[in-house]
Amino acid sequence: MSLETEANLFKAERENTDKSLIAERAKATHSLDTANIKSQFQTDEIVKDERFIADQQMASSRADHDDHREAGAHLVAERRQADRATGLERLRMDETILAERKSAAKLVAKVLEQERIATDRSLLVERTTTDEECVTSSKLLKEEVALHKKTQVTLTSREELLAIVSHDLKNPIGAISAYANLILDDEAGGGLGPEHIRFVKAIKRNSDMSLRLISDLLDLERIAQDKLTMSFAKADAKEIISSALDIFAPLAAEKNIRLAADLPSVPLELECDRDRILQVISNLIGNALKFTPEGGAIDISLREHNGMVEFIVKDDGVGIQKDKQGDIFGRFVQIHSKDKTGLGLGLHIAKTIVELHAGVLAIDSDVGKGSKFYFAIPKGR
Ligand code: ADP
Repeated sequence: MSLETEANLFKAERENTDKSLIAERAKATHSLDTANIKSQFQTDEIVKDERFIADQQMASSRADHDDHREAGAHLVAERRQADRATGLERLRMDETILAERKSAAKLVAKVLEQERIATDRSLLVERTTTDEECVTSSKLLKEEVALHKKTQVTLTSREELLAIVSHDLKNPIGAISAYANLILDDEAGGGLGPEHIRFVKAIKRNSDMSLRLISDLLDLERIAQDKLTMSFAKADAKEIISSALDIFAPLAAEKNIRLAADLPSVPLELECDRDRILQVISNLIGNALKFTPEGGAIDISLREHNGMVEFIVKDDGVGIQKDKQGDIFGRFVQIHSKDKTGLGLGLHIAKTIVELHAGVLAIDSDVGKGSKFYFAIPKGR
């Protein structure tokens, strides 16, 4: 309903209230007048009857007296005087009753008027309060509409930013990484000198890192907008870990870190978003490689327990202080100052992904001894 229609309805409602109040008051006045007239008429009738009876009694007692002896001139004069006095008395009484009725009517009219003034006053106060409340509500409504418009504009620009980042930035950087790969693959032909190979590897490393940062920012935005959705399908947990090992084996070898996995002999099937779970395990292995010094070891294991599939990544690196362990799943949190390759978003995103699988991600770590990150998700949905 528009504000104008609402205001018109409001006005019509008030006019109706006024009309029915006027009609009600006219009705009340009319019935009060009728009741008054009726009661006055009844009183008059009673007085009339009483007077008639009194006159009759007086006449019969006089007639009685006159039957026995004739009324003398003196008695006639006396009776006339008495009749005159009675007449006068009655007239005075009538005047008093009339005066009393007038003042009673005045009093009733005054009380009624005061009562009506009081009703009008409280109606006015009530309407003024309602009007003030209406003004405040419509002001609040206007502010809210303006804020909503502003939020909509912000949301649109955030969505536009998301589209720009995902297409206009991610695609060309992805192309740089792909071309660097092609050059490195061709390296077998011996076309490049060792220095140029080092340059191309640097291009590849940096473009991959940029791609990861962009992906993290996009995921963060999706989480903020509740748009991080999972596509569940049957997958093999063993295959997910093997894929992650393929990605990180070269880096582990470069850092002289032993990267080993203890996997079951048969496939371990579960219902999940395979690429997102690969992202979680990759984040954990990537972190383990970052925070484990040369010569260290990273052990990955997989097990099925109580209808859950558990993934474990254990390193013997620097570890995390107990009081900081609760913070690392927050946004933009980095505990170690030397870490310049991430944004502090990886674990936050990983935890969200695991929770979207109805699972849990946890940590067990000791400074100087290493860390164990593990997450468990239900095997079926
Ligand atoms: P990023 O995306 O920058 O890698 P993460 O959210 O994945 O950030 O990790 C947050 C922080 O937690 C890291 O910067 C690091 O300080 C700490 N951390 C994560 N994994 C480990 C680990 N295996 N050993 C020691 N510290 C770790």
